[in-house]
Amino acid sequence: MTTSIASQLELLQQEIAKSSEKRVNFQDNVRLVAVSKRQPIDKIEEAYQKGHRIFGENFVQEGVEKIQKIDKSDIEWHMLGAIQSRKCKDIATHFDWVQSVDRTKVINKLNQARQGMPPLNVCIQVNLFGEAQKAGVDETECFELAQAIYEAENLALRGIMALPPKQHDYPKQLQQFEEISTLYRQLKDKYPHIDTLSMGMSGDFEAAILAGSNMIRIGTAIFGQRD
Ligand SMILES: *Cc1c(COP(=O)(O)O)cnc(C)c1O
Repeated sequence: MTTSIASQLELLQQEIAKSSEKRVNFQDNVRLVAVSKRQPIDKIEEAYQKGHRIFGENFVQEGVEKIQKIDKSDIEWHMLGAIQSRKCKDIATHFDWVQSVDRTKVINKLNQARQGMPPLNVCIQVNLFGEAQKAGVDETECFELAQAIYEAENLALRGIMALPPKQHDYPKQLQQFEEISTLYRQLKDKYPHIDTLSMGMSGDFEAAILAGSNMIRIGTAIFGQRD
């Protein structure tokens, strides 16, 4: 028997609510990005029928095809994957959010390509634990990029996104997320309007929420294994 997308979404929302109740210092609503990379369109449409409106993709071409085929103006599409600068135009003209910005060149290209449209929502991808195989910037660079995004006319600085090393141990998860959360709060001191701390996936979102995450990203636990 396969578990339906609807019941998985419902279950996740209940778990998010339960984790949110345990927080002491944070009140934000926690938003769920359904990560639909390498999942067929009918599964995304099934989640849409059940009322879900926030989807994340990792590959530009695949994402753009889905955005065009599904063609719903009330879906919020998030780009989460590595950004090649020659794909910036496609990202800026089709997606609503990009969470994986990690260099100035990309900021300039996205800003240019977004002209004449509502601002593109941008998060900076941070990498605070020195993982060379992953994208993302350190604290210092994060502040530099934030200023560049802030100054870009067609971009809206929303916050940071992190993909910390996988930990099975809850205290270790919490410790990593708290470090990221500290950076987020420092950034928010400087840019009080920012509102997005995107961290937490299937195995660790409870710790992420307790540390202050207000956006979690989950794929296979909603849609099943990818193609
Ligand atoms: C794939 C991906 C996810 C979701 O991963 P699952 O294992 O499918 O839950 C979340 N965030 C990012 C950045 C991803 O690339």
